[in-house]
Amino acid sequence: MNVLVVGGAGYIGSHCVRQLIAAGHNPVVLDNLVFGHRAAVAGDVPFYSVNLGNESEVGKILRKEKIDIVMHFAAYAYVGESVTDPMKYYFNNVASTLHLLRCMIGSGVKKFVFSSTCATYGIPEKMPLVETMPQAPINPYGQTKLDIENALKSFASAYGLSFAAFRYFNAAGAAEDGSIGEQHNPETHLIPLVIDAAVGKRENVQVFGTDYPTPDGTCLRDYVHVDDLSRAHIAVFEKLEKPGTALFYNLGTGTPTSVLEVIHAVEKVTGRKVPYVTGPRRAGDPPALYADSSKAKSELGWEPKYMTIEPIVATAWKWHSQNPDGFKKK
Ligand code: UDP
Repeated sequence: MNVLVVGGAGYIGSHCVRQLIAAGHNPVVLDNLVFGHRAAVAGDVPFYSVNLGNESEVGKILRKEKIDIVMHFAAYAYVGESVTDPMKYYFNNVASTLHLLRCMIGSGVKKFVFSSTCATYGIPEKMPLVETMPQAPINPYGQTKLDIENALKSFASAYGLSFAAFRYFNAAGAAEDGSIGEQHNPETHLIPLVIDAAVGKRENVQVFGTDYPTPDGTCLRDYVHVDDLSRAHIAVFEKLEKPGTALFYNLGTGTPTSVLEVIHAVEKVTGRKVPYVTGPRRAGDPPALYADSSKAKSELGWEPKYMTIEPIVATAWKWHSQNPDGFKKK
């Protein structure tokens, strides 16, 4: 398949590009490099730096590269910022995606794989989460993803678009060979912050809340390896052959891991003490989020290779130790 990977220079997109190559597909990357890293994409992969609002340019790329399927990873994903600057999130995550979809449908490219999120569930009443549970996001970021899920449903029935929306839990880890990994600016994600504290790049890491109704009082999350996520995106291709197909899948391991367990895993993997301080809860953090991914397992044959936190952290550590200053500028 010729696959346009929108956001292919970002964290999950760049890992997916490598998995696509390994599976014998032909990825083409489109990334405006606002958050992506040019160096995260191998030099022989066709690369376009274009904004999605430029439908005529995007249409040209779809035709020139004979694209069969589009994967869309490009989005702003800072929950706190989405609360203070929702305009930015609705324009980038909703309006830009609508441009992309209009352009695809107009060009006859009707297969789409979309990065959604467990943040569309809001504060769930029950755990683990299954796809049929109510979606009630509690911040604009989650809402923008849900808005696109809903648009996709309408587009599937009206225009014959076939799509899969994957609701990610906490993407984590890095490529097994340590060549690419997670690098956000600013960094807000737990594992890279804890590693930075372990190596002394940060004075400490703050644990957001120790009074949650969880075994150790800290939040439980479902950390899923970025390469496992990527494999699901490729496994779904054959399900998208029939026009009008609409698919939703949770992607997580189902293993709840607390903030303190992440810190201890980093200590074990790195052999260093992690300086941490405890602080108040972060607004908008549900106490626990973890997935029931049995739908992806039964329908796609998807099983995460990494089921526990330590091996996931080990890959993040390998990336960090091989690239202490992050991606090289290209
Ligand atoms: N967290 C924390 N300190 C930090 C960053 C995150 O205690 O400096 C916690 C956060 O409250 C959440 C978990 O770590 O329970 C994962 O947070 P992250 O931002 O990595 O992902 P999220 O779950 O928000 O998507």
